[in-house]
Amino acid sequence: MLGSCAHFTPETKGIDKKVKPYVDLFIEESLKRGILVDRNDINIGMGENDEFAYEVRDNTMISVLGYCRPDRKTIRIKESHWTMISDVEREIIIFHELGHCVLFLDHFDDAIDIMNSRRMEPILYFQHRQDLLDRMIKRVRTSR
Ligand SMILES: [Zn+2]
Repeated sequence: MLGSCAHFTPETKGIDKKVKPYVDLFIEESLKRGILVDRNDINIGMGENDEFAYEVRDNTMISVLGYCRPDRKTIRIKESHWTMISDVEREIIIFHELGHCVLFLDHFDDAIDIMNSRRMEPILYFQHRQDLLDRMIKRVRTSR
């Protein structure tokens, strides 16, 4: 889920309607915690396989599932993966990428965290959702 993990970034305008419900949720959760997010400032599109790079981690090739280009306020999601995953996993991916692109957060790999660069177990996210969101938004406040 790194910004550099794309071979190319197609022109993307507006928010793909498949991801809109998760963006709405992100805006709502941010607002509850005092952060105003402007939806007109974000572009999110679905991409095909050859757009996404692979990276090697722990001797395993892992596929990049989504990335953010903060300079273009653009998020791209791998469509072939998106169609196979649950609602909770979709929320994690979109919130993670919005964390990069909208809240300007870096990876945080020291704990279970939305901004952890490793995949989070959906059940863990589901159980700790409020705390995880509080922690992510709090990091924005303290870094400003
Ligand atoms: Zn990431």
